[in-house]
Amino acid sequence: MVQILDGKKLSEKIADRLKREISKFPKAPTLAIIQVGEKRESSSYIDRKKKFAEKIGAKVHHIILEEKITTEKLAEAVEVLNSDKNIHGIIVQLPLPKKIDRFKVIETISPLKDVDGLTSANAGLLYESAFGGNDPKNVSARMIPATAKGIISLLKESKIPLAGKKALVVGRSLLVGKPVALLLLKENATVTIAHSKTVDLPKLSKENDVVVVAVGKPKFFNKSFVKKGQVIVDVGTNSLTGPKLLEEVSKTKLVGDVDFDQVSKVVSAISPVPGGVGPMTVASLFENLVVAFKSQK
Ligand code: NAP
Repeated sequence: MVQILDGKKLSEKIADRLKREISKFPKAPTLAIIQVGEKRESSSYIDRKKKFAEKIGAKVHHIILEEKITTEKLAEAVEVLNSDKNIHGIIVQLPLPKKIDRFKVIETISPLKDVDGLTSANAGLLYESAFGGNDPKNVSARMIPATAKGIISLLKESKIPLAGKKALVVGRSLLVGKPVALLLLKENATVTIAHSKTVDLPKLSKENDVVVVAVGKPKFFNKSFVKKGQVIVDVGTNSLTGPKLLEEVSKTKLVGDVDFDQVSKVVSAISPVPGGVGPMTVASLFENLVVAFKSQK
């Protein structure tokens, strides 16, 4: 029988732990989310974060800025939150409108409040730790991008062995692919990163024990990519019916990058969509918020 990597269940366990921890804090850790424009997809992700915050006793301060805002004005809004002692974590909800320099805006976030782990300071710490420079005295400033952190927690909690195993990450984005690869390396897996120019991905995929798929194409990864005994993590969150129906999609029609029906018949473990990596991302984000809160005391 295939093992289902149940992110929903584990995220509830993390929520219970965070709730107990937060109940002992003098005040509620507060996450500021800056949203530019009111894209329905972004609003749906933000709603999930708000629900999780409510469950654990954290607060979310949701700021909506107009679509036509400039990079400079957006960076100024971030600066205001950087110096606000009542804000412990800051997220700029992505994607941003094309004309905004997202790297410039992200770099403005104080690394101590960067709960998405996207500033170069936190990316540098992740890179360093993956290569052995894991200085425990320095960890207070480290925020690991939430999706990558959630994937590793899900694998470890599900008792999937990683040390000495061959792991393939399909996708090389800054948000998912690259940080997941670094974390798998930290777990002593032998890691390969594939992308759109990779030749003969089905063959490469079958050579690996663990495959993390983050390409953003619905049901792209089908039975031709897998063999018996593999562990598959599906990061994809795609709508089969298009963004205009996202409200419904968030409940029932979310589709992964992996063809679950085909692949689950072959492999030994797989994360479902929904209920796999998605809830782990939200839980890991709030784990980062608690780290940020403690480092700012
Ligand atoms: P992205 O920035 O668009 O990156 C996609 C990656 O996939 C790129 O590296 C691209 O290669 C690669 N790719 C595209 N087509 C490919 C192919 N045919 N074969 C091999 N590689 C291919 O996307 P992302 O931000 O990493 O997100 C990936 C997916 O994860 C999306 O569905 C997104 O919605 C989802 N996601 C889910 C969560 C969650 O919490 N569950 C969080 C974040 C993202 P190139 O670099 O060569 O273009």
